Amino acid sequence: MSKRAYNFNAGPAALPLEVLQQAQAELVDYKGIGMSIMEISHRSKEYDAVHAEAQELFKELLNIPDGYKVLFLQGGASTQFAMVPMNLLSGGKVAHYVHTGSWANKAIKEAKLFGEVAIAASSKDSEFTHVPDLSNLSLGSDAAYLHITSNETIGGIQYKQYPATGSVPLVADMSSDILCRPIDVSQFGLIYAGAQKNLGPSGVTVVILREDLAKEAPESLPTMMRYATHVEGDSLYNTPPVFSVYMVGLVLKWIKSNGGLAAMEQSNEAKTKLIYDAIDASGGFYRGVAAQSSRSTMNITFRMADEEMEKRFLQEAAAQGFVGLKGHRSVGGLRASTYNAVPFEACRALAEFMVDFQKRSG
Ligand code: PMP
Repeated sequence: MSKRAYNFNAGPAALPLEVLQQAQAELVDYKGIGMSIMEISHRSKEYDAVHAEAQELFKELLNIPDGYKVLFLQGGASTQFAMVPMNLLSGGKVAHYVHTGSWANKAIKEAKLFGEVAIAASSKDSEFTHVPDLSNLSLGSDAAYLHITSNETIGGIQYKQYPATGSVPLVADMSSDILCRPIDVSQFGLIYAGAQKNLGPSGVTVVILREDLAKEAPESLPTMMRYATHVEGDSLYNTPPVFSVYMVGLVLKWIKSNGGLAAMEQSNEAKTKLIYDAIDASGGFYRGVAAQSSRSTMNITFRMADEEMEKRFLQEAAAQGFVGLKGHRSVGGLRASTYNAVPFEACRALAEFMVDFQKRSG
């Protein structure tokens, strides 16, 4: 096999090699049926087993309590920006959002199309380099929900603890850090995530929903936009993205066989420490974008003296097999995305490259 790249792409992103190899082995003939999983009915017993197993693995890995449903939807996390307020913001209530950067902003903009939105907290004054302190949140009695973005993929900041919202449902966009560590699902009313970072290929969006919340939607809502449709249909109301769900199932099995979420957390911390240490020990040659206390274990954002230097860094990195280190086009700079499937070895190689590049540029 040709050498695999050191893949630091932000999304779609690295998948575990073992998962790709298993998918390859099963692609043409899935478990002896003489067809691929993509060529059979989504109501076949073979697909049914794939669907159910992926749901069960989510429940097991995240320790999801009774009363929650795992949904496999389409349209990306971007569609959830609308589906959340469409379903949960009715009856003159107010949707509260924490503004932490680009992705929170998109969620906020979309919610405003459907009702009243309040900004519960914002880190705009620090240019979104930290997660605001939410220990003294006050949400009114008319609060429909509080929405947070657990990890800002572009800014590189991540919640270290989640706010207590009492009886107000906490809704989280976990697109870029779901399954990176254990969480207490009972704290949340709804969690959503596009798959293409920590879960699998694009094409499926996972929604973990407290079932009672599915009942709140106004009657005028189109069928496909209603959570209740997908709860009642077990995400089989229409044809689900079968190959993506199959791949997510393989990734979940890979996580389980590698020790589950506690092991993922440990490994992500060890991986990112290598790179953050290279930044911190550089005497300002590399400058981390995020405040220390909000640093993400999924997206490491940093800058160098000027764009010329950043360009040279990217060119030399590319020549040595590092991929995806360019910052998001909206902010520039550099970003290393270190999702679950990015191997420790790739992070070590990047940290070594950074130290070496600094030496050569000094
Ligand atoms: N939220 C976050 C935190 C993201 O990182 C992304 C994608 N990069 C999205 C939402 C949008 O996801 P999608 O492309 O699946 O709509």
